[in-house]
Amino acid sequence: MSNDLLAITHARVVTVDEHGTVFDDATIVVDNSGCIREIATGDIAHTATTVIDARGGIVMPGLVNAHAHLGMTLFRGLGDDMNLEDFLARLMPAEISILNHDAVVAGTELGALESLLGGITTTLDMYYLPDAAQQVAERSGMRIFSAPNLLESDGPEPLAFDQRMQWSEQWLQQAQSDGNDHLNWLAPHSTYLLGDSHLRRIAELAHTYGAHIHVHASETVGEMTLVANRHHGRTPIQVLADTDLLTDAVLAHGVHLSDEDIELIADHHASITHCPASNQKLASGTARIIDLHKAGVNVALGTDGPASGNDMDLWLAMRLAGYAQKNTSNDPTVMPALDVLRMATINGARALHVDHLIGSLEVGKAADILVLDADSPSLTPIFDPHVAIVASAGRADVSSVIVNGRLVVHEKRSLTINHKETVQRVRQLGGNVMAAVKEVERTRGK
Ligand SMILES: [Zn+2]
Repeated sequence: MSNDLLAITHARVVTVDEHGTVFDDATIVVDNSGCIREIATGDIAHTATTVIDARGGIVMPGLVNAHAHLGMTLFRGLGDDMNLEDFLARLMPAEISILNHDAVVAGTELGALESLLGGITTTLDMYYLPDAAQQVAERSGMRIFSAPNLLESDGPEPLAFDQRMQWSEQWLQQAQSDGNDHLNWLAPHSTYLLGDSHLRRIAELAHTYGAHIHVHASETVGEMTLVANRHHGRTPIQVLADTDLLTDAVLAHGVHLSDEDIELIADHHASITHCPASNQKLASGTARIIDLHKAGVNVALGTDGPASGNDMDLWLAMRLAGYAQKNTSNDPTVMPALDVLRMATINGARALHVDHLIGSLEVGKAADILVLDADSPSLTPIFDPHVAIVASAGRADVSSVIVNGRLVVHEKRSLTINHKETVQRVRQLGGNVMAAVKEVERTRGK
């Protein structure tokens, strides 16, 4: 028998595989490469010394957050009760003035701590100084997909656009020589902050290295106007298609889409990351998720940054995503629980081009696993585990978290990130953050 790393026993395993298979009173065995060796009802012979008894509780795939700005935890609560345009005018100059490598590490580490404790095992991140996020990924065990952030302005790096492109090329070369597919990404911020020629240059670089694209698109009515003015009346989706950036891209938000936009997204096999908490808080609108599903578009879920979504809570995102579509369509039968759960797991993995590795609990896949609290009041009783996960579960119900076979959260405590120090470090940075925001307000004459 091979050397096994870990086993989970007496589990109600919600696999989120193609058929939505659920195993009752089952065992999962993880081999020493961090992959799932076997899932079956009853006991399985194994050699693991780490054994978690789920005691009948739900065991499910780790959640995939397909759009976040982890380092933005530093600015949590400073973009409230305002629209996206005022939010950006306030936050972006403040970020540029105070962010450095150490500050982004501190913010990202807090974001990773919050994510892991809440059951998020993979995040597609978009933030400045992405080396910082990788440092946190190594330490925390969370899978963080990072990319150079591409803007026309200098940013906290600080790099002018041409230098930013050189840096991006070095980043992609490094990712390829290290075999790190999760870093083979570029993140052009949006079509409102980048012109046509810059977008085309980014597309050329991406094609040279086979890199994936992560971009904000069609988030607000204000953005649609900005993009139309800047790009000859076109929509963000049309601009991305015309500049060769749409194929296989991850489009964050996709709230304001025409029928033609949806067709373009489907034709280019791009994914939408729906961020319902951010969209509702900023009054950005309600995305056309049902229409996207009908068109065959892969829709993942995201929290967006903690200044716009305020937390890294994908359970809330699942709830809001389903309820908003039911309510606006006057049809409670749309968006059934398993479809919503897929958005937070396998669809996120598909958007990130890693659905062969993660996103569901299947033999041969990496062991990214959550064990939920069997004694949770809100998860008692459980008649339909998919409904329980989507409509009743929350972050407080996450008991253990495993990433690639490594136990990173156990009995609701982080085993990889020092909780106290991480919180303390960000608290200490609060004074600098507030001073930077006040300076921005002063220069804007507010
Ligand atoms: Zn965003």
